[in-house]
Amino acid sequence: MDYSGKISRQVAGIPRSGIRDFFELVQGRDDVISLGVGEPDFATPWHIREAAIYSLEKGHTSYTSNLGLLSLRKEISRYVDDFFHVNYDSASEVLITVGVSEAIDLALRALIDPGDEVIYHTPCYVSYLPSISLAYGVGVDVPTTKRDDFALKAEMLEAAITPKTRVLMLNFPTNPTGAVMPDDELKKIAALCIKHDIIVITDEIYSELRYDEEEHLSIAALPGMRERTILLHGFSKAYSMTGFRLGYACAPAPLIEAMMKIHQYAMLCAPITSQAAALEALQNGDAAMNEMRESYHHRRDFTVKRLNEIGIDCHAPGGAFYVFPDISQTGLSSKQFASQLLEAENVAAVPGDAFGEAGEGFLRCCYATSFDELKVAMNKMERFVGSL
Ligand code: PLP
Repeated sequence: MDYSGKISRQVAGIPRSGIRDFFELVQGRDDVISLGVGEPDFATPWHIREAAIYSLEKGHTSYTSNLGLLSLRKEISRYVDDFFHVNYDSASEVLITVGVSEAIDLALRALIDPGDEVIYHTPCYVSYLPSISLAYGVGVDVPTTKRDDFALKAEMLEAAITPKTRVLMLNFPTNPTGAVMPDDELKKIAALCIKHDIIVITDEIYSELRYDEEEHLSIAALPGMRERTILLHGFSKAYSMTGFRLGYACAPAPLIEAMMKIHQYAMLCAPITSQAAALEALQNGDAAMNEMRESYHHRRDFTVKRLNEIGIDCHAPGGAFYVFPDISQTGLSSKQFASQLLEAENVAAVPGDAFGEAGEGFLRCCYATSFDELKVAMNKMERFVGSL
């Protein structure tokens, strides 16, 4: 059967992820050191796994409320208040989702009508533009640059705003650059959102993973922003719980209610076993999280130092677990660099252009891999660059 006319035009029009293309090259090769996958190398801390097992042992295998377990929503509300200094009512302003991934989709579908413009900064996480397109929105990208350490500049944002702008998506610390936002620039961005009546979706998934000792500031915490922000967060990165697929959205009740309308039919609820694990993570997971953060911090410093020694210009990003070195001085494109590095040395890293045009000339290396492997990968990188 010819399926070409059977797939929705909206879906057919979405390009494949550049990460997926690259990893098809990696598949089937032996002994590859991967700096490619954006997930922690730690297994979920044991006490969190145990909470999941115990929940199963007790026979807790049912659906939960569509919004999620009230006990978990209460704990999320407490945590968000402590960490982000924003208060949300656990009964009506917190929705538990299947990862931040689902929350992004719900927020966009709840907010935008066909043709509405959504601004996002690039290089960015690969799902943003496809998620905007699937919600029939129009994505407007605002490039960030190495000169600004990949922070979003308010004047660049202002230039992209039109009467059709409905939503701004933010993600700091950023995947793939590890960038963080200077507080004064974030305040200017908040002022623009208020002036132009824009709703913000802030993806805070890497917020705990900051290394340079400043406190993390979310745009939701700035004056006048709580009412126009959907704060998204989850357990995948900070607690090393990617496979549990658990996230949440916090926002004023009418926005959560709109997202709920989609979630209740599309997903019904997030898995109860994962919710039990998440409750344990929030109640007792700080020590394990801090230990993992310290380890990433150490690996970030090592990776940045080695890349610069090798002659690849790499600034020390303030957060997440990625470095985004500038490989343009080698004369190779991002794709050429990544595929030749793989071919010559069996080291996999993702070409920067997989995260938008602004990523051309860069490479995303995830340093959430073992220290021994990182050392070998950097030695191999050195030999590769030396051979060019
Ligand atoms: N947002 C960003 C910026 C990410 O980097 C990722 C995963 O890499 C996600 C969201 C997806 O997170 P989750 O596992 O909670 O769906």
